[in-house]
Amino acid sequence: MTPETLDPDDWESLRRLGHAMVDDLVRWHRGIHSTSAWRPMPEDSRRRLGIEFPANGLGAQEAFECFLRDIRPFPLGNVHPRAWGWVNGTGTTIGAFAELLAAGMNTNAWGGHQASTVVEQQVIRWSKQVLGFPAESSGVLVSGASTANLVGLAAARDRAYSDASENGLASPSVQLTAYASEQVHNSVDKAIGLLGIGRRQLRKIPTDSTYVMDVNALHAAILRDKDEGHTPFCVIGTAGTVNTGAIDPLDRIAEVCRDEKIWFHVDGAFGAATVLAPALHDRVRGIEQSDSIAFDFHKWLHVPYSVGCVLVRSVDDHRRPFSTTASYLEPLDRGITGWEQNFALLGTELSRPFRALKVWFVLNVYGTAVYGRLVEQNVRQAARLAEMITERDDLELVAPVPMNIVCFRYRRRGIDTNKLNKLNREILMQLQESGVAAPSSTVLGDCFAIRVAITNHRTRTSDLKMLVDEVVRLGGSLQQSV
Ligand SMILES: *Cc1c(COP(=O)(O)O)cnc(C)c1O
Repeated sequence: MTPETLDPDDWESLRRLGHAMVDDLVRWHRGIHSTSAWRPMPEDSRRRLGIEFPANGLGAQEAFECFLRDIRPFPLGNVHPRAWGWVNGTGTTIGAFAELLAAGMNTNAWGGHQASTVVEQQVIRWSKQVLGFPAESSGVLVSGASTANLVGLAAARDRAYSDASENGLASPSVQLTAYASEQVHNSVDKAIGLLGIGRRQLRKIPTDSTYVMDVNALHAAILRDKDEGHTPFCVIGTAGTVNTGAIDPLDRIAEVCRDEKIWFHVDGAFGAATVLAPALHDRVRGIEQSDSIAFDFHKWLHVPYSVGCVLVRSVDDHRRPFSTTASYLEPLDRGITGWEQNFALLGTELSRPFRALKVWFVLNVYGTAVYGRLVEQNVRQAARLAEMITERDDLELVAPVPMNIVCFRYRRRGIDTNKLNKLNREILMQLQESGVAAPSSTVLGDCFAIRVAITNHRTRTSDLKMLVDEVVRLGGSLQQSV
């Protein structure tokens, strides 16, 4: 009997298939401007993907053909120059190759004596330098800013109440409270819930007319809670809100946190990249004073999904929530476990993909300067789009445009808000379904807004013009029907 293995009999044809995959990827990325920003997935493709789990495999060639026919044509659209939904990075072709290299190594990057440890340490070191964190601070790569927020807030919780991980939050005498602006990302609500603090203990501080946190209101809320016997433990400042790109006054929040001895966490999922842009760097002043920062490499730095990072100023604080031991994980003096670095003790994952490789690779390929220019380019493009909108009677901005996000709507005199909301919903759905452009939406006050978030290195001014023309055209043609 021949022994079983998953290796091929014919390595040569596998090699050729691999080359075909690479050729196809390059061709697709190269021609991306002439494809649709998004396409609905046809019933046929969905049906074909629904086949029973095959007892005998299809083989690599057929699986690849199925991918080309039924999967690849129907992405969210991030790679496209007119993909502006939520906050999604564009990725790069070289980043995709780096993913292939990492997958080929198939390492489990928990740490220990292996190259992935050094690569991740290096990525963390760069991050600290760029964000102004001390060399001796701690950090770990995670799936994204949602997890990075969870890790940072876990460290904050356990510093305020060091029994939390061991004994739980059962003690009725400790009522932890956290603070963030009304515009905080919902991953913070999730984290506060998961950490057992209770979402209603997350105080949502009002924002001003530019959606920036009112720091006086923050301070007052902290003092009120202290008076009432609560234990304020953390303020979350946002560097770049999802709705409008607003940046909280980080330096003033840092001061309040220092005065009140509270942990300062920054959610800089995409906005942290602003530190790389000389013209915009000042806007996130204070980020370097935080106790922890969450940010993403897969958004404005265009590393392929998914990879984010959390930095924590104090190593002890970072370790506290995650330090547990097990006999099967005990390190030895030398050999694979001879290096002390263990990323599994800094976050929730034990088995970890080699995320650091794609980050290291892409950042090495491009260097920091071009990222600064790309951030500035996107911010200029947002300002240009805002200008095109204000120039027209039939369009209006729904929020200020401080960064790279534009919220606007089609309007017409004599139509009430309800009708306008309905009309703009329809415009957005048709925009997406036609494949012309893929913005997303939000609601500000009672206005439904078409929301364009430009974290896209492929967008050109002509793409923004196309968007404006199409919204105006759709608005005109749809007026009767709503
Ligand atoms: C995207 C985003 C998050 C969540 O990050 P993921 O990478 O999607 O987990 C959190 N906060 C802000 C401000 C974001 O823009």
